[in-house]
Amino acid sequence: MERYPQLVINLEHARENIENIVKRCEEKGIRVTGVIKVLNGLPEVCRAYYEGGCKVLASSRIQHLRDLREKEIGEEFELLRIPMMSEIPDVIRYADISLNSDGSVLKALNEEALRQGKIHKVILMVEVGDLREGYWDKDELLRDALMTENELKGLYLEGVGMNVGCYGSVLPTFENMQYLVDCAEMIEDAIGRKLDVISGGGTSSLMRIIDGDIPERINDLRVGGEPIVAYTLKHVYGYPMEWQHEDVIRMRAEVLEVRDKPSHPIGELAVDAFGHKNVYEDRGIRKRALLGIGRQDYGEPADIPNEDPHIEILGASSDHTIVDIEDCDRDYKAGDIIEIRIKYAQLMYMTSRQDVYVKYI
Ligand SMILES: *Cc1c(COP(=O)(O)O)cnc(C)c1O
Repeated sequence: MERYPQLVINLEHARENIENIVKRCEEKGIRVTGVIKVLNGLPEVCRAYYEGGCKVLASSRIQHLRDLREKEIGEEFELLRIPMMSEIPDVIRYADISLNSDGSVLKALNEEALRQGKIHKVILMVEVGDLREGYWDKDELLRDALMTENELKGLYLEGVGMNVGCYGSVLPTFENMQYLVDCAEMIEDAIGRKLDVISGGGTSSLMRIIDGDIPERINDLRVGGEPIVAYTLKHVYGYPMEWQHEDVIRMRAEVLEVRDKPSHPIGELAVDAFGHKNVYEDRGIRKRALLGIGRQDYGEPADIPNEDPHIEILGASSDHTIVDIEDCDRDYKAGDIIEIRIKYAQLMYMTSRQDVYVKYI
């Protein structure tokens, strides 16, 4: 018996997409760190990242790293979010590497690493303009790099990194990546050795690989949902991506009711369940289907990249989605299944719910 709502994942195509990205990066001497946070650490997909060539698996959440370690998927585990002071013991316990941007956090990591008898690797994040994490002042960066190298014996300064696109919508360019390389070389001059890792960003930095204008010394990218979602590079940035499978993930929802109803609500209108004042276009009587999936499962209905021209997503409450199927050839009835394309946000929400069934095909 199939259960719904479902998140359908084509594991073979996921792995091939990952392999293809890893291959293109390896040709440029770049390692791909596999970021699994958007999948809520689904072990089958994490294994696809690992088998696809990502030796280092990374997440913003320690719980994911702990699970991977227990299941022995991956060789090294990296914490992406700057460690919270309240989670330092677990960072040392479950992460081999962490991204950092604060001297007092580095000191706390060092003390805990010494306590646990470990050497913990750190990557110092450089702010290049997206305005999330990272050192803005070069002197402060250099000071903490020198402190890590010379004083914090429980830490190993593995390298530097940058992040763009997540908050400030900043694009990865040759210039902001070269700035990161300049910072790395400033540190190298001061500590008298080469850094192991210069991590040039996430998925969006793949554009610099495809265009062939990535600074030479960048040797790591932290690639997240894109091999699974297969959306951003093609549909947002316009790259052909002929080597990428676009059918890795879909959502499937069950039809609860099909009826012809007016398209404009009847009665005095105030706000919906989320306090929004909405505008409803009056298109007369239309055939609509009610689906057993809602905002609790995927977030904001307007963000779903529905590609079926015959199905229009009208709106949703917590557990229901209303779709217009007036122009649909198929004669839907209760119990039928509607399959819809999804992208990053829906994948993130759906994998975080226990009652969304994950089906591997
Ligand atoms: C989430 C995250 C990534 C991966 O981002 P994608 O856009 O999913 O590729 C990389 N680096 C950091 C620091 C992150 O938090």
